[in-house]
Amino acid sequence: MSAISLLQQLVAHAAKRVPAFCGMPVTAVYAGLRPASELKQYRIHCRPEHHYIAAGGIRSTGLTAALGIARHVFDLYRAAGNGEIVCHCESVTRREIERALQGALAAKDIGGLKRRTRAMMGRCQGFYCSAAVAAIADEHLAVALATGSTHDER
Ligand SMILES: Cc1cc2nc3c(=O)[nH]c(=O)nc-3n(C[C@H](O)[C@H](O)[C@H](O)COP(=O)(O)OP(=O)(O)OC[C@H]3O[C@@H](n4cnc5c(N)ncnc54)[C@H](O)[C@@H]3O)c2cc1C
Repeated sequence: MSAISLLQQLVAHAAKRVPAFCGMPVTAVYAGLRPASELKQYRIHCRPEHHYIAAGGIRSTGLTAALGIARHVFDLYRAAGNGEIVCHCESVTRREIERALQGALAAKDIGGLKRRTRAMMGRCQGFYCSAAVAAIADEHLAVALATGSTHDER
């Protein structure tokens, strides 16, 4: 059934119950989808092994509860060991930076670290995060970001 014929049916039903509605123009039409699941409660869970947090089934009160849900999801995120966000412009976490500095293909200079993680590549171009990045990365870099010193000089 098309939306228009459904609307005509609704208008006809309304006019049957309240004859004064007959001939009145419909001023607005709304549609709302509730993101429901088969359970009543919110479906919020964390799967750290898949780097995945679900926040679904928030069929009602989701706007009112949005800040509380956000805080809860952030707590889940932190508890999953992702660590704090170091570069806020590019949403790069401490863990991502640490991971980029380890392993067989570890970043050895700040250019490599930037390309791998995008830390310091955002809007502020490192103005806010370079000190924090240096604190994490400098001992791994051939040339320290904070002092410009090499491994031998340190
Ligand atoms: C008419 C109405 C009135 C409401 N009034 C209130 C109120 O006054 N106060 C209140 O607290 N709550 C109210 N709610 C409930 C509130 O809107 C929801 O709880 C809240 O929007 C849920 O947020 P969400 O992000 O989980 O889901 P949604 O806001 O539904 O967001 C889900 C998003 O995912 C997208 N999406 C879906 N499937 C896919 C896909 N396969 N691929 C990509 N994207 C996809 C959708 O397009 C949508 O943008 C109302 C809901 C309705 C319908």
